[in-house]
Amino acid sequence: MRILVTGGCGFIGSALVLHLVNDLGHEVCTLDAMTYAANPISLASLTDNPRHRLVEADICDRAAVQAAIADFKPQAVMHLAAESHVDRSITDPGAFVRTNVIGTQTMLDGARAHYEALLEADKKTFRFLHVSTDEVYGSLPPGAFFTEESRYDPRSPYSASKAASDHLARAWHETYGLPVLVTNCSNNYGPRHFPEKLIPLMILNALEGKKLPVYGDGLNERDWIHVEDHAKGLVAVLERGRVGNTYLLGGRAVRNNLAVVKALCAAFDRLRPDHGPHEQLISFVTDRPGHDRRYAIDCTKAETELGWRPQKTFEQALEETVAWYLENESWWRPIREGRYTGERLGLTR
Ligand code: NAD
Repeated sequence: MRILVTGGCGFIGSALVLHLVNDLGHEVCTLDAMTYAANPISLASLTDNPRHRLVEADICDRAAVQAAIADFKPQAVMHLAAESHVDRSITDPGAFVRTNVIGTQTMLDGARAHYEALLEADKKTFRFLHVSTDEVYGSLPPGAFFTEESRYDPRSPYSASKAASDHLARAWHETYGLPVLVTNCSNNYGPRHFPEKLIPLMILNALEGKKLPVYGDGLNERDWIHVEDHAKGLVAVLERGRVGNTYLLGGRAVRNNLAVVKALCAAFDRLRPDHGPHEQLISFVTDRPGHDRRYAIDCTKAETELGWRPQKTFEQALEETVAWYLENESWWRPIREGRYTGERLGLTR
């Protein structure tokens, strides 16, 4: 199958592209603007692979998007490209509206023109998968879970821009008949995660003996899914999801931020016993404005309809993630040099 993946040089996109090409044998065109969040090393192993090509283009560039689609003739589009960091959306919301809203419209328009020109038989199997976040649903009370029926209540510029993009994707299905699927997923962790986000930031700070800054009281809860479980969930939705439907994907691993940082410290104590105990590095810093208290996913629909379920166990896969960063300094060193060590950066997404 020929699959166009936007944002394939980012964190989740690279895990997805590697899975599609290496494990499933699909042909993939990665369309990516190579913003600060992209790391060319993430897909370097595919450089000479005939089943992969990289097109460096902005999803807001209508002509470039149309040219990439016309050239590659995808049988499916998996749309992940986005500005993704909540803290950045607070200081520069315009970039989020541009990429996440206008860019999604441009991708939907490009996919629609392509879809309408397909033969009837090819129309039956074409899919546009729009990848989104659980943050569009806002903050949950203690013990509650999001479902596909939860009301949209975005509270940051990031989540508001993603909510707008979700509505556009559904509208292109209802209005123009584009075979759209939408996924909303919880917090991801794993290899190749840009070190402004909570887990990689803490790993690299711990590695360098720096403080581990935790927002507020550290009791904000997130539902953690390993990025490879997410990538497999996206494939399950693409292959078996019902057109026009939304699927929530989560890791069934709700933890508060402090518990996550303590689990990281425990992993470090095991992997680098000569440097511990690492918990003494934890320090609490002023909370982020509008910091949502709890996100948690009920992914029963995806589990029962698609036969997918998250496979990784949080604490064990977290330790594997720490080990990945210890072994892959060449991936993160160029990014880390002089930049994302600040106390106010990247404590949760
Ligand atoms: P990321 O920031 O790591 O990667 C984003 C990628 O998109 C980068 O490669 C970047 O270069 C590219 N990009 C940004 N603007 C672009 C533009 N204008 N044109 C083309 N490419 C552009 O993000 P991620 O964490 O991998 O998230 C991928 C998607 O999954 C996003 O849509 C995000 O909203 C969604 N999501 C993320 C999480 C998470 O925990 N990270 C959870 C749920 C959903």
